[in-house]
Amino acid sequence: MQGAHRPLMPALAILVAAGRGERMGAARPKAFLELAGQSLLLRSALVFEAVEDVAHLVVVVPGGEEANARSLLSGVSKLRSVVAGGARRQDSVLAGLREAPMGFEDVVLVHDAARPLVDTGLVASVIRSAAAVGAAVPVVPVVDTVKRLRDGRVVETIDRSELGAAQTPQGFRRAVLERAFESAFASGLTVTDESMAVERAGGVVAVVAGSLRNRKITTPEDLVWAAGELAREVARS
Ligand code: C5P
Repeated sequence: MQGAHRPLMPALAILVAAGRGERMGAARPKAFLELAGQSLLLRSALVFEAVEDVAHLVVVVPGGEEANARSLLSGVSKLRSVVAGGARRQDSVLAGLREAPMGFEDVVLVHDAARPLVDTGLVASVIRSAAAVGAAVPVVPVVDTVKRLRDGRVVETIDRSELGAAQTPQGFRRAVLERAFESAFASGLTVTDESMAVERAGGVVAVVAGSLRNRKITTPEDLVWAAGELAREVARS
């Protein structure tokens, strides 16, 4: 097989799309909303489909939406399974993690389906860094001055040079994520991302440069912004 590219680290990507998306105020779960004629879920899945080092895709959707998601993703060849998520993000990620093949010891990526403008280069750098360090997250600088608040008052200003906003995909060697999740679940800890579980378990998490385009679609205004990004891209090409 000389010369052919063989993935060094056949990553498994879990796309989490089981949130209610309440801030969007739409009737449908957020990941099923369309952006320029294609659902956020399919857009995200196609980015991972295009990364050579991603071998498997697992998609986590709200219970009852599995068949819908399967038909939406019928053209995605790396799709391994579609499963129902849980009440908290970490419950949804755990449901996805259970779908990893037996004996799979490489990198597990967790990505918000609500970040459809992620690019393949970022996915590849997270895989590389997670394989080397054990855990890696993309981060963008915080541009606003951040305050700690209590009872409607400002308590303090936090030095923003030390702050970063975490994005996804977050990447982990499977054993690192599983051990961190075991201890989070055992101690009743709720984590807002997977990196937090690893941090609390005492693990090292590497930082990869994130991208402003990889914004989480949360409100109707974000959808308008993303449609504009795609239109600008078409105009440039
Ligand atoms: O709610 P938030 O915007 O932080 O969600 C980030 C991602 O996690 C979304 O893609 C959402 O669908 C997913 N999620 C999930 N299960 C939950 C909560 C959130 O899959 N219980």
